[in-house]
Amino acid sequence: QELIRKLEKTIENIPDFPIPGIQFKDISPIFLDSKLYEEVIADLAAASRGKVDAVCGIESRGYLFGIAIAVALEVPFILIRKAGKLPPPVISEKYDLEYGSAVIETREGQIKAGQKVLIHDDLLATGGTTEAAARLVEKQGATVAQFSFLIALTGLKGEEKLKKFNAEVYHILE
Ligand code: 5GP
Repeated sequence: QELIRKLEKTIENIPDFPIPGIQFKDISPIFLDSKLYEEVIADLAAASRGKVDAVCGIESRGYLFGIAIAVALEVPFILIRKAGKLPPPVISEKYDLEYGSAVIETREGQIKAGQKVLIHDDLLATGGTTEAAARLVEKQGATVAQFSFLIALTGLKGEEKLKKFNAEVYHILE
């Protein structure tokens, strides 16, 4: 619809970044247009309203929209960060990358057992990061009720990796 059209005009496709052969979607022009940003938040918040009682944002672009979604829904926002950034005590989850592995963390106690959680990030690609985030949430006794993204790239099989969590996947753009 109208929002999709505006976003497609605004988001920049940068060829060969960060490495040759990859086309990077730069979302930063959205923040030059406060009205457009508000429309994005209204859309993402409406998609999750009544379905979740906490929002987890994935470092770092997941924070740009995630915290505003949580404020709109009047629910807590929890930062999921790369290892070593949050002070102890933390809960950690390791995941595999194309080369090597990485660890993500939340502060212990910020996610509560039984919570229905929205995991939000700006973009779904292979789904590796989001899948690890979902395991990190479940490890703490909470349930992933929904995933949301501004953009979900199709063809990279990201959504397939998320199927096992039995949660709704919402995105504005493909
Ligand atoms: P995945 O783990 O699904 O392969 O990668 C998703 C993560 O990489 C997200 O945290 C996202 O912010 C980042 N990412 C990968 N490609 C792009 C891109 O083209 N544009 C933006 N904005 N982020 C990307």
